[in-house]
Amino acid sequence: MRRLLGTLDPYRWSVAAILILVFLQSLTSLYLPNLMSKIVDVGVLKGNIAYIERVGGFMLLVSLANAILPVSSGLLASRASAGFGQILRHRIFRHVERFMLHEFDQLGTSSLIVRTNNDIMQVQQFVNMLLRMMVMAPLMALGGIVMAVYTNARLSLILLVVIPILGVVIWLVLRRGMALFALLQTKVDVLNRVVRENLSGIRVIRAFHRSHHEMRRFDRANVDLTAVSADVFKIMALVMPLVMLIINLSTIAILWFGAVQINALQLPIGKLMAYIQYVTQIMFSIMMMSTMLFMVPRAQASARRILEVLDTVPTIEGPGHPLPVAALAGTVEFDDVSFRYPGAETMVLSHVSFAVQPGEVVAIIGGTGAGKSTLLNLLVRFYDVSHGRVLIDGFDVRQLSLACLRQHIGYVPQKAVVFSGSVAENIRYGRPDASDEEVRRAADIAQATEFIDELTDGWSSRIAQGGSDLSGGQKQRLTIARALVRRPAIYLFDDSFSALDFRTDARLRAALRPATAGASVIVVAQRVSTVMDADRIVVLDQGRVVGIGTHRELMATSNVYREIVSSQLSEEETA
Ligand code: ADP
Repeated sequence: MRRLLGTLDPYRWSVAAILILVFLQSLTSLYLPNLMSKIVDVGVLKGNIAYIERVGGFMLLVSLANAILPVSSGLLASRASAGFGQILRHRIFRHVERFMLHEFDQLGTSSLIVRTNNDIMQVQQFVNMLLRMMVMAPLMALGGIVMAVYTNARLSLILLVVIPILGVVIWLVLRRGMALFALLQTKVDVLNRVVRENLSGIRVIRAFHRSHHEMRRFDRANVDLTAVSADVFKIMALVMPLVMLIINLSTIAILWFGAVQINALQLPIGKLMAYIQYVTQIMFSIMMMSTMLFMVPRAQASARRILEVLDTVPTIEGPGHPLPVAALAGTVEFDDVSFRYPGAETMVLSHVSFAVQPGEVVAIIGGTGAGKSTLLNLLVRFYDVSHGRVLIDGFDVRQLSLACLRQHIGYVPQKAVVFSGSVAENIRYGRPDASDEEVRRAADIAQATEFIDELTDGWSSRIAQGGSDLSGGQKQRLTIARALVRRPAIYLFDDSFSALDFRTDARLRAALRPATAGASVIVVAQRVSTVMDADRIVVLDQGRVVGIGTHRELMATSNVYREIVSSQLSEEETA
C-alpha cells in the first residue's frame, strides 16, 4: 500500500492543502461548543444581549468556515484520488503491454481486467478516505478529550468507562465484518469468472444445449454472493445503532452526574451542553478511525493484487544493448532449436534446424500439436528458445530490439483477430501511413476486395466487436491484407488459409507469390494442397523435423508425409 501511495506524488500540493484544510476544520469543530457554552452562560443566562450578538455573530462565521472547509478539502481529495486511480491504471496498462504471452497465461486475462478496474477503484476510494480522515479522526478524538477534560475534569471520569466499552464493541463487530469481507471478495471473483466464461463461450453453450446447466452454475455463485454480502451488511448495519446507543447512554450519565454539579453550582449549564457535544465528537471520531482500520485490509488486498501485476517482470525483454541493425534482408534460420513452454515438462520442439532464404516459400506441415505454431512464436519472440538459436540475417533474435524484429515481420495468426473500426482501418493497422492505393492492393492480393465491395459502406464499413459480423474466411483475408500492407522482409502465415475454400485458397496463393517475391515466407498449414507448391516443405512430427524437401521429394522419402497426403486424399475422395 505504501508503495502505491507514491503514485500520489504529482498531487503533493493538493495533499498538503487538504491536510491544512482538514486541520482547520477540526479546530473549528472543537471551537464551536466552546463558543456556544459562552453564549449560554454569559449571554443567555445573564440576559446580556450585546454579548449574544457579538459572540453569536462570531460563532456564525466559525460555523460558516466549518461548513466550507470540508467542501473544499473534499473537492481536492476527490481530484487527487481520481488522479491517483488514473495514473495507476495507466501504469498497469503500459506494463501489461510489455507482457509476453507467458505472463498472460500466468495472471489470467479476466483477473487482469478485474485488477485494472475493480481493485484500483477500491484503492482509490481508500485513498480518498485516507486523505479526508487520516488527520481528522485522531485529531478530533484527541482534541475532544483535551477539551472535555478542560471543560470538566470530574465528569471526564465517565470517559474512562465509556471509551473502552465503545472500543470493545466496535472491535467485536468489525472483526466479524472483516472476515466476511475477505469471503465476499472471493465470491465476487467466482461470479466474475462464471459470467466471463459464459459470455465468451456462449456459442458452445447454446450449441450443446447447456444453458440450464450454466444457469444453475450462475445461480449458485449469485446466491452465494448474496448470502455473504447480506451478512456483511447486516453486521455493518449494527455499528451505527450501537455507537448511537453508547453515545445516548453516556449522555444520560453525563446529565445525571452533571445535574449534581449544577445543583451544587459547580457547573454552568452551557458548559454541560458543550461537554455533551465533545463526548459525541470523541465517539464519532473513534468510530471513524475504526472504520478506516476496517477498510485497510480490503484496500491492502487490492493493493497487493495491483502490485503483483506491476511486479511481474516480462520474461522476455529487449536486450539491454540491441545490435544497431536498421534493415533486415529476412534470412531466417532455426539452429538446433529446442523449446519447452514455461512450467511444462516435455519439450514441444526438439533439435529443429532449417533455413529460409529471401524469395523462398517454406511450408511447415504436421499433425495438430506437432509444434508448428510454436515455431512461429519463437521467431516473433512471443517466447524464447530453451536451447539453440533463432537467427535472422545471422543475428540471434534475442540481440535485436523487439521493435526492429517485429517491424520486419508480417504475422498472420491462426485465430484471425480484427479490431472494432472500419475495414480500411483494420488493414492499415499493418502500416498506419499506407496510402489508400496500397491498402486496396493488399486487399486485392488477399482476395478480400470482392466481399469488401459488397459490404453496405464498402471500405468504411464498421466492423462489429470481435468481427462477429464477418465469416471466418473474411476475417482471415483481412488479417492477411493487414500483413501484406506492411511489406515486411518476413511473412509468417499460421494456418491462415484454413477457413478459405479451395478455390479462394489457390487464387490467394497465386497472387501471393509475386507480392512476396523478395521476402522470406513461412506457411504453416494442415492441407497438403496449400503446401504442395512451396519451394520446400518441413514435416514436423511431435516437435521433430522428420523430413525436408519438395512435395515430390518427400513423397519419395518421407513416410509421415505420405501418410498425411494419403489421409487427406482419401478424405477428399470420400467427401
Ligand atoms: P500446432 O500448431 O502444430 O498444432 P502448437 O505449436 O500450437 O501445435 O502446440 C504444440 C504443443 O505445445 C501442444 O502439445 C500444446 O499443448 C503445447 N502448447 C501450446 N501452447 C502452449 C502454452 N501457451 N503453454 C503450454 N503449452 C502449450
